[in-house]
Amino acid sequence: MKDDISSHERLVRLARIERAAAPVASVYLNTRWVDEHQRDRMRIARLIAGVVSGSRHETSSDIARRASELVSHVDMQEQGSALAAVLTEAAKGGRAVAGVDATVEAVNRGAVRRLYVLKTLSLAGWSCARCASLQGDPGIRCRLCGGEATPVELTNAIVDRVIASGGEAEIVDVHEDLRRLGGLAALLRYPL
Ligand SMILES: [Zn+2]
Repeated sequence: MKDDISSHERLVRLARIERAAAPVASVYLNTRWVDEHQRDRMRIARLIAGVVSGSRHETSSDIARRASELVSHVDMQEQGSALAAVLTEAAKGGRAVAGVDATVEAVNRGAVRRLYVLKTLSLAGWSCARCASLQGDPGIRCRLCGGEATPVELTNAIVDRVIASGGEAEIVDVHEDLRRLGGLAALLRYPL
């Protein structure tokens, strides 16, 4: 039941469904620009995500479920291309980072605007009791201040920290390039 509610909320957040002449409904995606560069390209792609058609006996929730599948599909494609742009930016040394060490550093500096985490990723890490810095390297002492470090599940700690600092976190189901880079990447507020 909980899943139904969250998937419905997700649908409402991502899309607007308009019932056209029954039994057809049009699904429009809400705007969610990754950055200004992508804006024009995205605008064209997202004018209309698709049309969901159903048979006469189907209820609104049947149509909504079908729309939800469509939105998930389009959202996944969009996330994939947005993430590819982030990885390219990271490779150029711009306003993005990729890999565990670089992402952890960006998180510690509060520079992450949007974090991308591979769904299956679980990492051992440490959190400093004195300065709250996170680190992936095994170490009893914090690399930054020498304070005592305690073990944490690094992925969860990073996500919590990014959200607490006003950033966003996206869970990525499948992305080969992200996996190869260690499963973590981030779009930054400013270059580091
Ligand atoms: Zn410290």
